[in-house]
Amino acid sequence: MVNLRTIHHELNQSNYYEASTNRPTFPTLEDNIRTDVVIIGAGFSGLSAAIHLAKRGYQVAILEADDVCSGASGRNGGQTIVGYACSYDDLKKQLGIIGARTLWDMSIQAVRQIDQNISEFGIHCHRVHGYLQVADSSRKAKALEEDVKNLQKRGVPCTFSTGPNIQEHINSQRYIAAYHENISGHLHPLQYGLGLANAAQNLGVRIYTKTTAQQLKRGKTLKAITQKGEVSAHFGLLAGNSLLATYAPSIAPEIYPRIMPVGTYIIGTEKLSTQLCQQTLPSNVAVCDNNFVLDYFRLAESHLLFGGQVSYTARTPKRLEEKMRSRMLHVFPHLKNIATPFLWGGFVDISMNRAPDFGRLDKNLYYLQGFSGHGVAMTGMAGELVAEAIHGQATKFDLFTKIRHHYFIGGKLLRTPLLALGTLYYRLRDLC
Ligand SMILES: Cc1cc2nc3c(=O)[nH]c(=O)nc-3n(C[C@H](O)[C@H](O)[C@H](O)COP(=O)(O)OP(=O)(O)OC[C@H]3O[C@@H](n4cnc5c(N)ncnc54)[C@H](O)[C@@H]3O)c2cc1C
Repeated sequence: MVNLRTIHHELNQSNYYEASTNRPTFPTLEDNIRTDVVIIGAGFSGLSAAIHLAKRGYQVAILEADDVCSGASGRNGGQTIVGYACSYDDLKKQLGIIGARTLWDMSIQAVRQIDQNISEFGIHCHRVHGYLQVADSSRKAKALEEDVKNLQKRGVPCTFSTGPNIQEHINSQRYIAAYHENISGHLHPLQYGLGLANAAQNLGVRIYTKTTAQQLKRGKTLKAITQKGEVSAHFGLLAGNSLLATYAPSIAPEIYPRIMPVGTYIIGTEKLSTQLCQQTLPSNVAVCDNNFVLDYFRLAESHLLFGGQVSYTARTPKRLEEKMRSRMLHVFPHLKNIATPFLWGGFVDISMNRAPDFGRLDKNLYYLQGFSGHGVAMTGMAGELVAEAIHGQATKFDLFTKIRHHYFIGGKLLRTPLLALGTLYYRLRDLC
């Protein structure tokens, strides 16, 4: 039996972000308290909702089972990218042209909101603008060219280049085409998240760590029960991502099967010389390829952080370090003598259609999940939409709730093999 909590914990032991950050301490809840809104989960989603609620005058308490941003928010590739993990056409089919366009615009706004937060709250998190999407075959280059036309139509200026022209941004023989745009980019996600936590506290939000919400009694007044205390609140937000089902199986069993925890991993190099950084990613962009099982990488304070590889069983792949190094060297063979002291991973909350899954379980109980590996920017917007909805303006939030989601079929025993089988087809397509 896979123990998600144990694997999640083990996967964080040589995380570059943790190694480059001084964490502040937060109290553990040891009392019974009352508040307007209780939020479960102190990742980007929970912190953003807390800030936007506090700005609207609500009292907020956040319960975090582990540490602030110890989940996906403190482990990700740091890529702040416009758009969603699902296609624009999928959104259009479900919501119509206006709905899809509204969602798309919100994804651009979500990236801009990060810059506003950084400036408003004085957050130091190595923010960089510039994003490159790359293709390694002519079929995928065509798809990229199509993407460029669509991005331009939807308000994202970008340039398409082929052959040696891409070397302005990336020094790799692996890719034959790329597009570049400057709205998306990258940042140090743990430092950004801790900056949000600090901003939330300055607005009066109470954050409790090492405090697991084990149960939640629903009703007009919600009661979240933790190891040593209770929180009574008028409203609740579940922002616990893939681990919520593991920490608290009874809190929201109706939504757990709508997402699957899928493992993804990042390897990090020692510090590279300025010359080697220039010889690797000269314009310091965040890069992603357009494969189904994608590689995503960037420089972070002169370390190359290279992400990729997936596990649909949640089990950590065997010989992970060797596999990750080999992926990295396939793209950048000139780094073969460079040490890779960092290796970590985490779980993304994949929804069946890869669209975000937001909604309400009761009039006063909201949830956010299903960011499908595309949540660094969108979580911030999602938190704001929940705050708006609680405050009585739910139009934008409700647009997301119109997206139809399906349960991963087959229950706990079958959903992993079925998903793996489904994705095998796309992995084979990656090869041509
Ligand atoms: C390795 C990796 C790379 C990624 N790369 C990118 C990227 O480059 N770009 C991008 O856009 N997205 C990326 N993502 C996805 C992105 O990180 C997530 O979508 C986003 O961080 C989700 O934020 P969240 O707040 O919803 O969840 P999380 O950050 O996971 O926070 C949820 C929190 O809830 C807590 N919790 C759960 N249950 C309970 C409970 N019962 N009681 C109390 N607390 C509880 C958990 O401990 C956790 O801290 C990546 C994810 C991973 C794992």
